[in-house]
Amino acid sequence: MRDVNLVLIGPPGSGKGTQAARISARYGVPAISTGDILRAAVKAKSPLGRQVEAIMAAGDLVGDDLMIDLVRERLAAPDVTSGFILDGFPRTVVQADALDAMIDGCPLMALVLAVPEAEVARRLSSRRICAGCKTLYTGGTAYGSELELCSRCGGVLITRPDDNDVTIARRLLQYRQASEPVIGHYQARGLVVTVDGSRGVDDVSADVFTAIDGFRDGTGPVPPPSAG
Ligand code: ADP
Ligand code: ZN
Repeated sequence: MRDVNLVLIGPPGSGKGTQAARISARYGVPAISTGDILRAAVKAKSPLGRQVEAIMAAGDLVGDDLMIDLVRERLAAPDVTSGFILDGFPRTVVQADALDAMIDGCPLMALVLAVPEAEVARRLSSRRICAGCKTLYTGGTAYGSELELCSRCGGVLITRPDDNDVTIARRLLQYRQASEPVIGHYQARGLVVTVDGSRGVDDVSADVFTAIDGFRDGTGPVPPPSAG
């Protein structure tokens, strides 16, 4: 059985974080969200946080060198023993090249969550997040969307500072320009599985699990014999 070495790709609001948590629970591999790591740094006012706060608030991309160092360090942590789920990295082709070098020929699967732009814009402008347990609530569809408080932990529901119209537009543009080419990077090597992410969370998960099972037992995408 192969390790679950997984890269999640999709526009902001496509459900990467939600699916990453479910995959993590099912397969017992850590979900690594670069957005969460950066937001924690901002909250802690660490040197990294001070450096990235304005960039994130504007919906721009943090520099490749910084992100690559951050992920290299995270992948060296002791909990990364039998795989990883990367949510939010690689976001540029430069980052994808760096990840290739880091994992040095290990089998990898790129899972694309496809969601039309109009739908992600709708999701982002209506979503709120629990300040306590980080559960996401999307207006209109999710249970609890009319609650003031988190139905799970009672925490306060807040809007993420980068979920405003101006920043959302910028993030979508960055996705189209910088991140979509990452799909091509993996497609060229036959590593991509695309799932329709515009459906309900459980339907998406079902397809995601099927794809990962195929990857683990070797019937799914396979990398070419150690290139370079
Ligand atoms: P989204 O909900 O838009 O997918 P994330 O929570 O993954 O956003 O990331 C939030 C912000 O953190 C991004 O808009 C960007 O500024 C920064 N960021 C996260 N990951 C990366 C990365 N790999 N490269 C550059 N910037 C990143
Ligand atoms: Zn909560």
